[in-house]
Amino acid sequence: MTARVLVVDDVVANIKLLEARLAAEYFEVVTAMNGPEAIEICARGQCDIVLLDVMMPGMDGFEVCRRLKASPATSQLPVVMVTALDQPADRVAGLEAGADDFLTKPINDIALITRVKSLVRLKTITDELLARAKSTGIGFDDVVDLAAVDGASGRVLLVEDKAATVDRVRSALANVHALEQETDPQEALFRAAENDYDLAMVSLTLAGFDGLRLCSQFRSLDRTRQMPILVVVDPDDNARLLRALDLGVNDYLVRPVDRNEMLARIKSQIRRKRFADRLRDTMQTTMEMAITDGLTGLHNRRYLERHLGVLVQQAVARTKPLSLLILDIDHFKAINDEHGHAAGDDVLREFSRRLRKAVRGIDLASRLGGEEFVVAMPDTDGALALLVGERIRQKIAGEPFQSEGANSIPVTVSIGVSSLLSANDTPQSLMKRADDALYRAKREGRNRVAVAA
Ligand code: GH3
Ligand code: MG
Ligand code: MG
Repeated sequence: MTARVLVVDDVVANIKLLEARLAAEYFEVVTAMNGPEAIEICARGQCDIVLLDVMMPGMDGFEVCRRLKASPATSQLPVVMVTALDQPADRVAGLEAGADDFLTKPINDIALITRVKSLVRLKTITDELLARAKSTGIGFDDVVDLAAVDGASGRVLLVEDKAATVDRVRSALANVHALEQETDPQEALFRAAENDYDLAMVSLTLAGFDGLRLCSQFRSLDRTRQMPILVVVDPDDNARLLRALDLGVNDYLVRPVDRNEMLARIKSQIRRKRFADRLRDTMQTTMEMAITDGLTGLHNRRYLERHLGVLVQQAVARTKPLSLLILDIDHFKAINDEHGHAAGDDVLREFSRRLRKAVRGIDLASRLGGEEFVVAMPDTDGALALLVGERIRQKIAGEPFQSEGANSIPVTVSIGVSSLLSANDTPQSLMKRADDALYRAKREGRNRVAVAA
């Protein structure tokens, strides 16, 4: 993982120090010695993450952070505040200014690399999802605002067997998050898989059990893979901490745990998790929307066109039958004219519901547009397809449709059936033959199923 890190500090020696440590981990470094210069570099998109000194003459770090977070061009850029003093008040001020994380001088190497890597990882995922989202052409402005995501009221699982620590965490989290505590790691794993925790806080100094093993198990289970993990380590136990970071834990706290730092880190991890969840959900919805017909919930024409080709290829390759139905509601224009467009929509929805119920899960049912539908049926020969078509016809004609304001609407459908004839058949030739059959069904009086010649 590499990234361009902007180091902002008014003291050259500080810049040199950070530059050397980051370069040793193969990060690229750009530098700025004051706020306005830093803002300009960020606005030009020349860095992936910012390490920002708090105390600088002129514009201080808090103000730089506020401005970066207020501008749409830079609001996504992760900012780590570097506080000179071990002042909880500074950390709170940094987070209020919108900072994503903080480091305290003198800067510990592990802390530096952990925070930077973790934010770069988050940014990489976010950028990738956003790029994919943008390529679908749907606006994402409202989802991508991490600042608007709340990190409060989380469900936190604490895996800790020291009663004193448990009490301290419990009192710190009271009224902020819902805390559940577990001393047995096996039970903790089970509970995490069964419940949707926003964060697990794991002690790496459990008596008789290796907390690292639990972290590794969390990371390997599908149900807990995305759950943020915050580990609690003894000071100077760098070996364990490095192993934990290698296993993919998100962040850590060193004993004795500072109350404000704990609250800040928990909140920040919960926000990032919720942000990522939201992004994933939105991506999922967008991808589903792109292949789904909005009115009926069936697959849309785009999906059909893409997948019919695959179904034809598979059928040819496996010498299996494949059949196609094209369905067109009879005199649908008259239904609209007589009962109104809204009633027409109700008919389309109910039609789709009956259609879906009449076919198998592996059949591809889609709305081609208007009142035309297509069902592609793998492993189905012409004789069977005719039976399915006839069953659908009866399900439609057999019971009148209902719509608010219009008591009862009789609906019928005409259906054309085609089947794969040879290895030279294509989606187009199948569709053409089914379409010809459909028009014969219409000509011969509608409410009937016709098989392609
Ligand atoms: P035929 O039996 O020959 O198929 O006659 P028809 O009236 O069903 O066919 P035609 O293609 O002339 O009319 C289809 C009508 O479907 C016209 C159009 O306004 C209506 N329509 C298309 N899409 C929608 C829709 O999403 N909702 C509603 N309510 N009507 C639609
Ligand atoms: Mg019609
Ligand atoms: Mg039509």
